[in-house]
Amino acid sequence: MNVASCGHRLGTEATPESAADLRPSMAEGEVLDTAALIAWPLERMRGSLVVPSQRAELSRISPDREIMLDAAELEWASPGSAAIARASDLATTTGDMAGLSPVDLELLALAIERVATLATDDYRLQNLCELGGVPWLSVTMEGISSLWSWELRCTGCGAVLPSPGTPSSRRELGNCSDCGSTLKLSRKRD
Ligand SMILES: [Zn+2]
Repeated sequence: MNVASCGHRLGTEATPESAADLRPSMAEGEVLDTAALIAWPLERMRGSLVVPSQRAELSRISPDREIMLDAAELEWASPGSAAIARASDLATTTGDMAGLSPVDLELLALAIERVATLATDDYRLQNLCELGGVPWLSVTMEGISSLWSWELRCTGCGAVLPSPGTPSSRRELGNCSDCGSTLKLSRKRD
């Protein structure tokens, strides 16, 4: 039995809105991105949280690994709409949304909802965790050291487009509505 998932919050009263502002020391459990599912020993990931859409992602990237995962006793959970909305707000604020997949957004939302630590090597997710006060740890790499903002910019005419409100399934950024050139996410200067 996993007693860490009983839902108690430590310290001051936390509303759903402030859950993402809880300090790292209060985090319970870990949400694992697909890089962790591939790289970590099964023992290390026992009881961790994952989203159901990762199973399809994993069976595409590493089918053998997907079969092994049943032994890791993972908790497969989907985040609720309030957490998805909070994660979407964060991603739209930083401009990371255009580079996120639906799986990425669900992982962030699940970490927010469960007040858990997000284990990810995706620097966009790390960036969003920084902004939202969600504790994160990197899977195999070093990770970011500061908060970044992005703008969606046309490689042709240089127009800056508004961040999309939802993730893109193929991480495609699309084309400029003015000149048709491809769009690129560039780091925003403050
Ligand atoms: Zn353009």
